[in-house]
Amino acid sequence: MNAKEQIETLRKALREHNHNYYVLDNPTITDYDFDMKLKELQELEAAHPEFHDPNSPTLRVGGEVTKNFVTVTHEHRMYSLDNSYSKEDLEDWEKRIQKILGNVPVEFVCELKYDGASISLSYENGELSKAVTRGDGFQGDEVTTNIKTIPTIPLKLKGDYPEKFDIRGEIILTLEGFAKMNQERVANGEEPYMNPRNTASGSLKLQDSALVAKRPLECLLYSIAGASGLTTQFEVLEKTRSWGFKVPPVAQLCKSIKEVLDFVAYWDVHRHDLPYETDGVVIKINNLQHQEELGYTAKAPRWAMAYKFKAEQVSTVLNEITYQVGRTGAITPVANLQAVLLAGTTVKRASLHNADQIAKLDVREGDTVFVEKGGEIIPKIIAVDFSKRSTESTPTVYISQCPECGTHLVRKEGEAQHFCPNETGCPPQITGRIQHFISRKAMDIEGLGGETVELLFNEGLVKNYADLYTLTTEQLIPLERMAEKSAENLVNGVAASKQIPFERVLFALGIRYVGETVAKKLAKAFKTIDALMTASVEELIAVDEIGARIAESVVQFFEDAENRETVGRLASYGLQFSLSEEQLQNQSDRLKGQTFVVSGVFESIGRNELKKLIEDNGGKVASSVSSKTSYLVAGANMGPSKRAKAENLGVSIISEQEFLEMV
Ligand code: AMP
Ligand code: ZN
Repeated sequence: MNAKEQIETLRKALREHNHNYYVLDNPTITDYDFDMKLKELQELEAAHPEFHDPNSPTLRVGGEVTKNFVTVTHEHRMYSLDNSYSKEDLEDWEKRIQKILGNVPVEFVCELKYDGASISLSYENGELSKAVTRGDGFQGDEVTTNIKTIPTIPLKLKGDYPEKFDIRGEIILTLEGFAKMNQERVANGEEPYMNPRNTASGSLKLQDSALVAKRPLECLLYSIAGASGLTTQFEVLEKTRSWGFKVPPVAQLCKSIKEVLDFVAYWDVHRHDLPYETDGVVIKINNLQHQEELGYTAKAPRWAMAYKFKAEQVSTVLNEITYQVGRTGAITPVANLQAVLLAGTTVKRASLHNADQIAKLDVREGDTVFVEKGGEIIPKIIAVDFSKRSTESTPTVYISQCPECGTHLVRKEGEAQHFCPNETGCPPQITGRIQHFISRKAMDIEGLGGETVELLFNEGLVKNYADLYTLTTEQLIPLERMAEKSAENLVNGVAASKQIPFERVLFALGIRYVGETVAKKLAKAFKTIDALMTASVEELIAVDEIGARIAESVVQFFEDAENRETVGRLASYGLQFSLSEEQLQNQSDRLKGQTFVVSGVFESIGRNELKKLIEDNGGKVASSVSSKTSYLVAGANMGPSKRAKAENLGVSIISEQEFLEMV
């Protein structure tokens, strides 16, 4: 055997042993023999650098250092999951699904919800090519070097894998591995880590991959993104397992919501026997074509649902209630608690939401309260332990003045929140608006963070976001903690943001109720800021999905002389205040006033592309057939009940070809 063959044989054997040991939990050689083979390979590779392979088993030990993690856009967005907490929630979900699919038989796959950090792995020709964190779902950080050190992730696949695909999973620490890590830390005089999830997630962003290699991380895989040639989720799990991934065997195929509930009930009790943490069950529609038909809401797939196990509760003392002022002036009362350990993290604060909530719970300073942690980061107070209340306690009196600027608070009819109306003079509102303006989904200004905004405001350099565009390095360098380089980065970051497209500028302005999706809709409908600024409430409401509340807020915003001046300044600095040529192309009003329902599979065009075509041409896409539907665009394998409903209501059913001719 020549060196090349020897190297290949060793690599293949080590990969197999690695898989047996870590994925199958079933080693077939001793650790000693494994180490010997590894050493032999290392020596051969050192002697023959010409046979270097970035996916060799020897590179599992890490060593490469990443200074800056590169931001990468996900080819397929990484969504969140909607949560459910009861039998009723699940039954409602099934109804919503059936309404869209048209009452066809569906199967569910139940999996556990692994509690770690999500990861997207790309494979090309059977080799790991890229690993990216979830980030904000659209973009994440590339952490391939670190990910390669995790032994349950195959660097080369076996079997009949597709040429190119993305697979999604969760990076976790087992409870045992986590405990061991902490024992070592304590023995070394270091602070123990708080919980496995945060530690797993923090591990991905360590700069030294050799440190990552030392952590007992695992990756549990649960889905493929995009087309895979497979037809069901259950098949996805089985197939990916056969390619070498670690796919937990707990997943189960269920024929009804009742069977789903049995699965949930079983794991609610038995989850404590698992080697890793789970906070619920994920239920997915098994048929991938159904999944595609159901599609996504702005945040989550319609075809999946998380069921959350009941959260842990603890009791502790509420020391003080303080009040925070948000960027819109909304006041949020915060409970400052005596620190207590809850579900693995130390809790010191909990949200009290608003005055009504405080009154409803009758919560007072000095009370002993029950605190619960659900899916959200900030825990909430469930109830007061009245048996422990002191006889001297008096009811909480909600503040009437802004804790930041002293202005008398207002509360609009029907609103739960109190507001500080001093929009232009209340410091957290001013800085909050600027922080929103520069945030990632808005102007995404690099080199400028929340703290710097406060510094710039306190130094009197910026009073609103338009002031950012006149900042000079000469003004910045004298500031505390501002090196020349960071000053330049800031000024460059601000200048670069002038290229950010119109819809994001619109979102960045911080008009109340104008979130990302609404901003997109408005940009598309009005095309320029001038048209939007002069639009009446009626014209705004005429836009699909824009209601009176949003319309009034938009009109109010642009009625304000100061806002108009700010927008004028921003425009004069060269920000994008109209749709680009490219965005305007391919757009028409041809389908204006018409509502479409799209169903089935299409030949020449993907379902999402088809929907985009409808919207680009001024039409509206609805998810189920009703009397308001103008056309049902029918593809192959359309649900029979959908067709029947359309026929009943006299809705025109058109083919893909007929639709394409319309546009
Ligand atoms: P959330 O962040 O609570 O909206 O939940 C979505 C996250 O759950 C995803 O990003 C995944 O990382 C994670 N997750 C854990 N287990 C699963 C599973 N079996 N299927 C899908 N997602 C899962
Ligand atoms: Zn105020």
